[in-house]
Amino acid sequence: MKKITAERGGVLRCKGWRQEALLRMLENVLENGENQKELIVYASLGKAARNWPSYLAIVDTLKQLEEDETLVIQSGKPIGVFKTHRQAPLVVMANCNLVGRWATSENFYDLQDKGLIIWGGLTAAAWQYIGSQGVIQGTYEIFQSIARIHFGGNLRGRFILTAGLGGMGGAQPLAGYMANAAILCVEVAEERIDKRMAAGYLQRKTDSLDEALLWIDEAVSNGKSLSVGLLGNAADVYPELLRRGVQPDIVTDQTSAHDLLYGYIPSGYSPESAGVARREHPTKLQAAAGASIANEVKAMLEFKKRGAVVFDNGNNIRSQAVQYGVTNAFEIDIFTEAFLRPLFARAIGPFRWIALSGEAEDIRIIDDYILKEFSDNDIVSNWIKLANTYVPFEGLPARIGWFGHKDRSKLALAVNQLVREGKLAGPVAFSRDHLDAAAMAHPNIMTERMKDGSDAISDWPLLNAMLNCSSMADLVAIHSGGGGYSGYMTSAGVTIVADGSEESDTRLRTALDNDTGLGVLRYADAGYEQSLAEVRTKGIARIDTHRYETISSTVK
Ligand code: NAD
Repeated sequence: MKKITAERGGVLRCKGWRQEALLRMLENVLENGENQKELIVYASLGKAARNWPSYLAIVDTLKQLEEDETLVIQSGKPIGVFKTHRQAPLVVMANCNLVGRWATSENFYDLQDKGLIIWGGLTAAAWQYIGSQGVIQGTYEIFQSIARIHFGGNLRGRFILTAGLGGMGGAQPLAGYMANAAILCVEVAEERIDKRMAAGYLQRKTDSLDEALLWIDEAVSNGKSLSVGLLGNAADVYPELLRRGVQPDIVTDQTSAHDLLYGYIPSGYSPESAGVARREHPTKLQAAAGASIANEVKAMLEFKKRGAVVFDNGNNIRSQAVQYGVTNAFEIDIFTEAFLRPLFARAIGPFRWIALSGEAEDIRIIDDYILKEFSDNDIVSNWIKLANTYVPFEGLPARIGWFGHKDRSKLALAVNQLVREGKLAGPVAFSRDHLDAAAMAHPNIMTERMKDGSDAISDWPLLNAMLNCSSMADLVAIHSGGGGYSGYMTSAGVTIVADGSEESDTRLRTALDNDTGLGVLRYADAGYEQSLAEVRTKGIARIDTHRYETISSTVK
């Protein structure tokens, strides 16, 4: 089969731009994905569709879909088309949701093998992945936050140790470079290192630890930014660095440690031999992966003890380590709670826009608008300047920017106006990561140690998805964890298309403001001061039940 790439240009294959946009987004996740043959986009198992017949059926259906119809998708398989109305979403989907008690990795793999379910990652099955650039600002903001808290505001002359150069982890070397650090990324698969070098995300590669350390030492001494990919296994390299007395300033890991069967490659295995072991003795492979993770996490804890800033970057590595005997793994901080929560509490999070025309110039025009209109927003203007200089486009040209409540809709409405006036080559799709204020419950990532203890309550992403449907978004998705994430998370995704129409104005304003509005209220409900301030300054209609406490005591 011919390699799938996203359609570019102004010719529609569907009955309207909204449908065409979603089709291009689907093609785009595959264009940017890690293993197109298997429909795998990232995180080892995150798929764009159930299987090839489902993919082809989705493509055909989107081409036929009327403006007043809704396509229903269950775990990457199209189920039916329903007559709804022009303000309804064109696509709704639920991917990999298992009933609580049954949400285990074993059940997931069993149902997956029967062809009944897939794990959609967050943005894979919801057709929102835009390549490694999708997480790059998040990774950069983490490094910046560490710089502010621990290193006097700058990582120049600092050494970051990490692992994993996959679909998401591939953003780490460039984010580290942009934050002025010297970053060493351990990766077990050479083709992943090569892919990041070809994409311009990674500068140097070697299979020699000695050479890697020489380069890093030199960069640290001269205060130079540098990214190095080291071919090796993190479970071997981290303890070896300790043995040699090498002490990084910052340590993390973004291998696919969440999945012991399909993700993390144990010490002594290559990706190929792990593939064979997966078929021939899966239980032994999982045990080996668990043991290797335990060794790596023990090393991370020791780095912490020796003074490094050590954090979990959202791959469940601590939970796996606990299962394999490292009872104190949770002494390692989670990045959200340690570094990003003040932003999420104001619903500032990873917002994205994709130029459906395929023209990079459209993104540059939007960059210029942002630099002019958001010049007082330091996070955004600093990032857009950096992204413009350093971040190469992958697939359809796209940009990420950490915008919050009202700012997202201000940007989207301005872009819709540019589309309407013919100043852009085509419509633009707006989306965001599921790791967003209202959109994710994950007690070991997004909602760890919430102020009110509401970590495991998954009402919020469900409410978020329902509200986005009511708010006329074009695509709404509800996901839960699969594979190693089974039982760990629930999240919601949303996409809205700026096609230049006045209807789009209404959709963008309503869906984007309600999406972030609920995000602010979720954190306000948990008692975060920043959220309560945002409620007041931005006039979000919060119902304050505390006001009714005195009255209710008289009712009783
Ligand atoms: P991926 O499967 O595309 O890539 C993982 C990489 O790790 C692969 O290249 C693999 O070869 C490498 N690897 C596996 N075991 C290794 C080992 N022992 N030593 C060295 N390299 C090893 O996954 P991804 O999309 O890059 O995601 C990585 C993890 O990050 C996942 O657990 C994912 O869920 C998580 N994630 C976090 C965030 C966030 O916001 N922090 C966002 C997205 C994904």
